[in-house]
Amino acid sequence: MSVLVFAENWDGAFKKSTYEGVAYAAGLAQSVGGNVTAVVIGAVSAETAATLGKYGAAKVLQFDGNDVNHQATATILAQTATAAGSKYVVFNGTWKSKSTAPRLAIKLNAAIATEVVELPSTNSPCVVKKKTFSGKAFAHVELNAEVKIIVLSPNAYGIKENELSAAFEKTSGTGSDKDASLQHVEYQKTSGKINLTEAELVVSAGRGMKGPENWGMIEQLAEALGAATACSKPVADIGWRPHHEHVGQTGIAVAPNLYIAIGISGAIQHLAGISSSKKIVVINTDPEAPFFKAADYGIVGDALQIVPKLTEAIKKLKG
Ligand SMILES: Cc1cc2nc3c(=O)[nH]c(=O)nc-3n(C[C@H](O)[C@H](O)[C@H](O)COP(=O)(O)OP(=O)(O)OC[C@H]3O[C@@H](n4cnc5c(N)ncnc54)[C@H](O)[C@@H]3O)c2cc1C
Repeated sequence: MSVLVFAENWDGAFKKSTYEGVAYAAGLAQSVGGNVTAVVIGAVSAETAATLGKYGAAKVLQFDGNDVNHQATATILAQTATAAGSKYVVFNGTWKSKSTAPRLAIKLNAAIATEVVELPSTNSPCVVKKKTFSGKAFAHVELNAEVKIIVLSPNAYGIKENELSAAFEKTSGTGSDKDASLQHVEYQKTSGKINLTEAELVVSAGRGMKGPENWGMIEQLAEALGAATACSKPVADIGWRPHHEHVGQTGIAVAPNLYIAIGISGAIQHLAGISSSKKIVVINTDPEAPFFKAADYGIVGDALQIVPKLTEAIKKLKG
């Protein structure tokens, strides 16, 4: 029995979230028996496909097309899982996976757990630990259907090496998107900026910045660090920043190594989107701001004074 993992590719390359999904699938395959088959939709070179072997994939199945249409992706995965007799399908925690996994669950009549942080504690029945209440608590859930779909919480399991040599197989099928209720007429990629969901470093700011005229210093700090920029919801709602930068329960979930929160109070809805960050730095004038409770490091003070000094110090440090 193979454990299937959806290995997202981005213009022919894999990101760390893909490797985390494959590493989790390898851990799962060791515990339930069988091998890992990674499904890639879109062109990747045999050399790139082979990198999945480093994290435990025994086989890489590559389908033509792209994975922009999540309904079509779910169809391909359903056909592959059924043909291989896979009882487990693993997804990483990106928006693409979060959109595709429930569609697959419908097609396979499968049990699905999202925001999963660990390998199953038992396999019979299959019980997994997952985040709940916007990351404020954990739940242990039992997956009772024949096919089980596990969607990871980003950065929770981590990237573990499990060296195998992956057999690369290019398939002729492209999957059917005839059942898609949504057809993509045109698809344009944004360019230039660091992708927020994949960013290792994020500089994020909130209403404490007072107005859009002060965002130059946030961008300069992000540039000095090589970080992506983000913001709180009200900042996007007022129009100080674009909506695609809004982080939180109703925005984007990030999982960087470092999240710098500047002039953000730390409401639960904001924290829901950043709980997978490895280290959190908070800059706020109010020592009682709730964000300090989630912080690894905190600076109490005026961001308008502190941020330019921080940028200068980082530039000096980087030479
Ligand atoms: C259903 C629902 C969903 C929501 N979803 C989200 C979401 O996804 N993401 C999100 O962010 N919010 C979300 N919210 C809103 C959330 O509850 C908060 O209102 C919001 O996060 C507050 O944004 P803020 O911290 O930028 O602003 P404020 O709450 O106004 O906080 C500003 C902070 O800046 C500090 N400050 C002021 N001046 C300075 C200065 N000069 N230097 C440094 N610090 C300063 C203040 O002390 C304060 O802590 C949601 C709310 C609801 C009801």
